[in-house]
Amino acid sequence: MNKKVLLLILTSLICLFSTTACTRISTKNENKKELVLASFTVLADIIENIAKNDNFEVKSITKPGIEVHGYKPTPSDLINASEAFVFVDNGFGFEIWSEKFVSNLKVQRITIADDLDPIFISEDSYKGKPNPHAWISPKRGIHYVDIIVESLSELRPSKRELFEKNGEIYKNKLSTIDQDFSLFINNLGKESRYLVTCEGAFSYLAKDYGLKEVYLWPVNAESQITPRRMARTISLVKKKKVPAVFCESTVSNESQMVVVNETGTKFGGNLYVDSLSSDNGPANSYLAMLKHNLEIIKRGLD
Ligand SMILES: [Zn+2]
Repeated sequence: MNKKVLLLILTSLICLFSTTACTRISTKNENKKELVLASFTVLADIIENIAKNDNFEVKSITKPGIEVHGYKPTPSDLINASEAFVFVDNGFGFEIWSEKFVSNLKVQRITIADDLDPIFISEDSYKGKPNPHAWISPKRGIHYVDIIVESLSELRPSKRELFEKNGEIYKNKLSTIDQDFSLFINNLGKESRYLVTCEGAFSYLAKDYGLKEVYLWPVNAESQITPRRMARTISLVKKKKVPAVFCESTVSNESQMVVVNETGTKFGGNLYVDSLSSDNGPANSYLAMLKHNLEIIKRGLD
């Protein structure tokens, strides 16, 4: 007789004599959740929407508001990861730390970028490398959902129906955000279609909705601005009369304020990219983050 069968018989016997003990045993089993570990908060939130039920718990290695590219994992991150059944990261070089992090772990891995079409960075030392920030466009967010639904279903086939059902509901919400922003852009004068930010994190949004992207530095991991790029940005904002410029929540606005002071344009606000805000902030979920960003861009450019 194998151990499982023996345990089942013993449990049934206990249940016959004590309902309290029986309840205690079944509750303990039901509460055992499988851990899905994501590299950053945006991804963790998307996964939570897809996997939400009593069977799964989703955690993020990096916490809200933290700069993700150059994060240094702590010993407790490693302990957390060892309890997970799968580690999900973005890829495209976003998490500089993730290769080393997973190399010593016996955990399955889903890398979203493996199934995404990249946009390549065109300048500086990152030239030719894929831009990692694909989630910033709601259209690509829909791809993220499809990839996660399919990859999780392959690992846990009995939950496919749940993942697909949750995924459809979530994709509908993303489609609404996508349609709303498309409508705004279609009604926006061509001369106003500029998105000037600190980090070059908006390539996917710009490409998907027909905006011209201008930035002070290509990737946050290299947030040093060259005088040449600063001069070029100032000249463009002046020449094109760009109505507003923006910066990201995880970096200082200082450089962008130089552009504002030199050109007389307005500072449109802080956009969330690499990390969600804390629970009481304006971007406490991926959907809230997209809505917040697109609303700020709309208000700035309109
Ligand atoms: Zn970034």
